[in-house]
Amino acid sequence: MGEGNSKPLGLFRFGAPPGQLRSALACRANLRLPVPAVQINVTLEMAAAVDAATGLVPNDFLEDDDMTIAQLKPKTDSLTADPKRLIERTAEVVSAADRVLALAKTGVRQRIQDAGGIDAAQHAAHGLAWFATTVESLRQMNVWASNLEAEGKFGEIEQLILLAAFGEYAAQISGGIPMSQVEIIRPDALGIPRADIRKYEDAVADVVAEGTSEYVKQRLADLIEAAQGATTYGASGLDETHAEIAEQMKTFSDAEVVPHAHEWHLKNEYIPLETYKSLADLGVFSISLPEEYGGMGLGKLAMCVVSEELSRGYIGVGSLGTRAEIAGELILHNGTPEQKSKYLPAIAAGDILPTAVFTEPNTGSDLASLKTRAVKEGETWKITGQKTWITHPVRADVMTVLARTNPNEKGYKGLSMFLAEKPRGTDENPFPAKGMTGGEIEVLGYRGMKEYDISFDAFEVPAESLLGGVEGQGFKQLMATFEGARIQTAARAVGVAQCAMDLALKYALDRVQFGSPIYKFPRVSNKVVMMAVETQIARQLTYFAAREKDQGRRCDLEAGMAKLLGARVAWANADNALQIHGGNGFALEYPVSRVLCDARILNIFEGAAEIQAQVIARRLLEGAN
Ligand SMILES: Cc1cc2nc3c(=O)[nH]c(=O)nc-3n(C[C@H](O)[C@H](O)[C@H](O)COP(=O)(O)OP(=O)(O)OC[C@H]3O[C@@H](n4cnc5c(N)ncnc54)[C@H](O)[C@@H]3O)c2cc1C
Repeated sequence: MGEGNSKPLGLFRFGAPPGQLRSALACRANLRLPVPAVQINVTLEMAAAVDAATGLVPNDFLEDDDMTIAQLKPKTDSLTADPKRLIERTAEVVSAADRVLALAKTGVRQRIQDAGGIDAAQHAAHGLAWFATTVESLRQMNVWASNLEAEGKFGEIEQLILLAAFGEYAAQISGGIPMSQVEIIRPDALGIPRADIRKYEDAVADVVAEGTSEYVKQRLADLIEAAQGATTYGASGLDETHAEIAEQMKTFSDAEVVPHAHEWHLKNEYIPLETYKSLADLGVFSISLPEEYGGMGLGKLAMCVVSEELSRGYIGVGSLGTRAEIAGELILHNGTPEQKSKYLPAIAAGDILPTAVFTEPNTGSDLASLKTRAVKEGETWKITGQKTWITHPVRADVMTVLARTNPNEKGYKGLSMFLAEKPRGTDENPFPAKGMTGGEIEVLGYRGMKEYDISFDAFEVPAESLLGGVEGQGFKQLMATFEGARIQTAARAVGVAQCAMDLALKYALDRVQFGSPIYKFPRVSNKVVMMAVETQIARQLTYFAAREKDQGRRCDLEAGMAKLLGARVAWANADNALQIHGGNGFALEYPVSRVLCDARILNIFEGAAEIQAQVIARRLLEGAN
């Protein structure tokens, strides 16, 4: 780690420096904490720069051994010295966390009862959702590690990622989980007795101490640097088929998406239809549809892997499949035989572009109260109302429109779903259809498909366009697609998170300050390390939800957790990647500026984070699968 001929600051001590820096140094010396070896890189030049900035003067060399540099290495009784023991220990941590989760459920139930309902106790209820998500994340990381171990693939990087994941998340369980930057959920708020938290802290102390240690972070930083350009940092845990799909999609994305993504974004251009065609040829829109409808019948895990790698290239490209996914699921599970044979093969082949038309200006999260009306006149439905935030409607051929067919039913029971066809438009004439107008909404990110406000004024669709030929089922039909859509969004989030980490790593290795690549400074490399760790956690949680879905099990809880966590991780990674870019990150020409904007949407659509947490909390409190 040492940096050539520079004199290490580790051999310095500041002479009675005032303020924070002094207390930090004094604290370190008193506690006799090992000074991370990476401080060897802190040079005289840097010290001079610090002097200039702070007025502090490094006055002499160390006279005692208070601050001697401890060589960073694992202790001999380290968990990483014995991978099997590490897996056993992390399984024990999961059990300890499960016990606290059970207490949290009881505590939150009580708080909701005391408050008079879940909305009055949202902090606790949503906190429970985050708490359970954190525990599930740990469980899935342990499962991932166990499977890798059984396959002989549990190498050093995987062991350290596991340990770092457990160190951080196990600590958050007792110390506070960030639901957002300004809302930390702590055990007290969940009604967990203090004595039980202390027991938990004792039970996990060794894992937390080692998992959050400088050694683990520094060693991971080295391993990540050596693996730069990898498909995943740490084995993905995918079987051969899925791993092969991931590699193919990465190759496609690196060649066909990455070189153009930033220009599409900056110029607010559509992703070219040729790219759409290439994706269709690769089978992107047919992955999870059954073979009888021209699909590949590969399931949600494959869909995740594809979405992840495409979104890593550009979220816009990874999201082209979202509308196909929603329309495909709606039609597959609810359509009449005619609707299935008409639309599914065409969607799978990429010949028909669908769009999802649900949100209204006054109805976003509370979709069940939407107002757009559909009135039947003879053999025609006439749709009238305002929709907003509709992605990719201009080039779409068919819209899945949710509208109220029974005005006497104000809630979800009055809603029906339509498969409404429309001609393709252009920027100049976006909606060349009678009864349909609209205008573009300018957006921060998530470009490449364009978002529109749409007005329907007696827009006509034939009677047979009612999904499944049944009225009043639209909301239920849509809810049933949410598992798949949320898993797909979670996978998009993992892709964006990975993209941010890729950019951060590259920049940190290239950018030199104080005579050294900034990656050599722990505050920089630690960020990249935690990006890698959290991306792997979000990935494993997403794959878990997908596998549950592929097994035919109900997985709304798991899908919600994956989406909730994935969106937070994507945003954290993008924010930290931008920080690593310094001023350049703020320049539009740097792709990380786009990734920051793109990452931000993941917490808003497909169930905003707060709504997601509410749904998870309700499920947890009614009892799991
Ligand atoms: C780029 C983009 C693309 C989109 N694409 C589509 C699309 O293709 N088709 C489509 O139909 N829609 C689309 N949407 C709409 C999207 O689904 C909605 O924006 C989302 O559902 C949130 O609704 P809203 O914007 O009305 O926010 P609101 O519902 O007004 O919520 C605002 C805030 O209040 C919070 N909040 C609301 N209710 C509660 C509550 N009960 N408890 C606690 N917090 C609450 C929310 O979590 C959020 O933080 C898109 C949106 C965007 C930004």
